[in-house]
Amino acid sequence: MQKTILLFSFLLISTVALAQSDTSIFTKFNNFNNSVLNGGIKKAEAKKQFEEIMSYINSKEIVRSEVVTNKGQWVFPLKGYKSSAIGGIHGNGYFDKGYRFLDGNKHGAHPAHDIFITDRNQDCIDDRTQKTVDVIAVDEGWVISCTNKWEPTSDMRGGKFIWIYHPASKVFTYYAHNNHIFVKPGDHVKQGQKIAEVGRTGYNAYKKRSPTHLHFSEFKLVDGVPVPFNPYQQLLKAKTL
Ligand SMILES: [Zn+2]
Repeated sequence: MQKTILLFSFLLISTVALAQSDTSIFTKFNNFNNSVLNGGIKKAEAKKQFEEIMSYINSKEIVRSEVVTNKGQWVFPLKGYKSSAIGGIHGNGYFDKGYRFLDGNKHGAHPAHDIFITDRNQDCIDDRTQKTVDVIAVDEGWVISCTNKWEPTSDMRGGKFIWIYHPASKVFTYYAHNNHIFVKPGDHVKQGQKIAEVGRTGYNAYKKRSPTHLHFSEFKLVDGVPVPFNPYQQLLKAKTL
């Protein structure tokens, strides 16, 4: 009997320890992402670290333990909005030429679609509903990085941002300029789950000339680093919640 209890306690402790180390990989990714953004890490070293972290995340039960289904169809990242809210003409606001993830905050190009809300007085409240607008996860995944800190004096362009890794399709989605963030690294999110509210955080997004919007990107892993991929077709097909 005593042995059984001992064995059980051992198993329980090991499980807890494993869960903790698994979660800490997300903290590690978050710290790594911040050093890339701050330019505090050499590119070769950053690439190495990124590969190590991603192979750890992919190899672990942590991304397989939940029911990870690739539904194939996204939900639109802004609740109550549809593709007509995407800036530009037929998605021409997207251009990824010259963008490199490892350039951090100093990158060129605009590998994203800006999705605008109706907010003439720029108070982050939807003029049509008088409510905040929810940013939702387009698909199921894991929050691998985010920041809740941003001050108007900051030169960080993403402001309060969120990165989600979707293991079923091995893609990343990125949501920037949020006002409030409701997730943290290591959180598992379901498709359609509220992760943030639309805001105006970020070096350019904060300026008066910028209408309130979500900056949304998709990335795929190419040679071990995230490379932007135009998600326009998926956004056109996405279901509005
Ligand atoms: Zn943008």
